[in-house]
Amino acid sequence: MNKIAPQPGIMDIALYQGGAAHVAGVADVVKLSSNENPFGPSPQAVAAVQAAAARMHRYPSSDHGDLRAAIGAAHGLEPERVICGAGSDEIITFLCQAYAGPGDEVLHTEHGFGMYRICAQAAGATPVEVRERERVTDIDALIAGCNERTKLVFIANPNNPTGTMIGAEEVARLADSIPPQAILVLDGAYAEYVEGFDGGAAQVAARENVVMTRTFSKLYGLGGLRVGWAYGPKAIIDVLNRVRGPFNLSTAAIDGARAALADVDYTKWCRAENARWRDWLAAALAEVGVPSDRSCANFILARFASQAEAEACDDYLQSQGLIVRRVSGYNLPSALRITIGDEPACRRVAAAVANFKGIVA
Ligand SMILES: *Cc1c(COP(=O)(O)O)cnc(C)c1O
Repeated sequence: MNKIAPQPGIMDIALYQGGAAHVAGVADVVKLSSNENPFGPSPQAVAAVQAAAARMHRYPSSDHGDLRAAIGAAHGLEPERVICGAGSDEIITFLCQAYAGPGDEVLHTEHGFGMYRICAQAAGATPVEVRERERVTDIDALIAGCNERTKLVFIANPNNPTGTMIGAEEVARLADSIPPQAILVLDGAYAEYVEGFDGGAAQVAARENVVMTRTFSKLYGLGGLRVGWAYGPKAIIDVLNRVRGPFNLSTAAIDGARAALADVDYTKWCRAENARWRDWLAAALAEVGVPSDRSCANFILARFASQAEAEACDDYLQSQGLIVRRVSGYNLPSALRITIGDEPACRRVAAAVANFKGIVA
């Protein structure tokens, strides 16, 4: 008899569902299902990755010193308190692996990012879902959800897939109220979309129990390159570096991220376009009876009257070559998450939803 078996809990993990990229039989599709930058990466990042290709026989830097220095300079952070990962997903994995195990609890919110649960389970820990208040992170519920087994508390701010955000005072209150053995993780995957927002860096600097994660996958348009990072107390960063593989970032990833970070004008332009078309699309959908909360990110969560209506609208959008994201897996069965595309894509979405609602745009 075969005695080979994975660690307890591994087979309970539900596979991560990525955004679809194709519709059978439809040619001209626009992918609005993964919160990618519709304008792509900075041309300077593309050039850096191409240049790195000629050097791919060499192992990459193992400490990411140049990239951490560049991140530190761009954000006013100490580079020795920064760690880089193959996407911020890898940082979430490190945090769970290093700080949570069997018998420990990992908190995430009701409509929180799916990787928190997956990484907690992969580490043998127990993910605990905490309710939100009308699709907004509820600090009091999170505090009430903590106990002596709580090791990690994950919140994304702005949150995905809701797009909502909580203020610095609330985050500070949460950091002050979690138990002493717990770490608060502020996932800032969408922080760059909020003008002037530090993603929680000031909270990290002021405390011993807060870590901020960031990514190059969203505003910087490098989702396919896999670069993320975290800023935290030196003691925690030192722990995470012990479980990090020495060559977790490729040379192309390191160089591409540095070049993307340096192209400040491009990211500024992408941020402005996103804000403009996000607010336009939200207003256009609201006008045809599809409301959404004010989004602080690069997507909107469009709410429908029922799950059936949301699914019917998704089917219709697909038939029109528009791929958006169903979010029933995030406890939001009657909503669709729509990434903000470029102007033509936003206009197509608005016209298609209007059509679906029986309103001639
Ligand atoms: C997209 C996203 C990430 C980033 O993932 P990467 O691994 O950096 O590509 C992290 N957290 C949230 C909430 C996200 O939506």
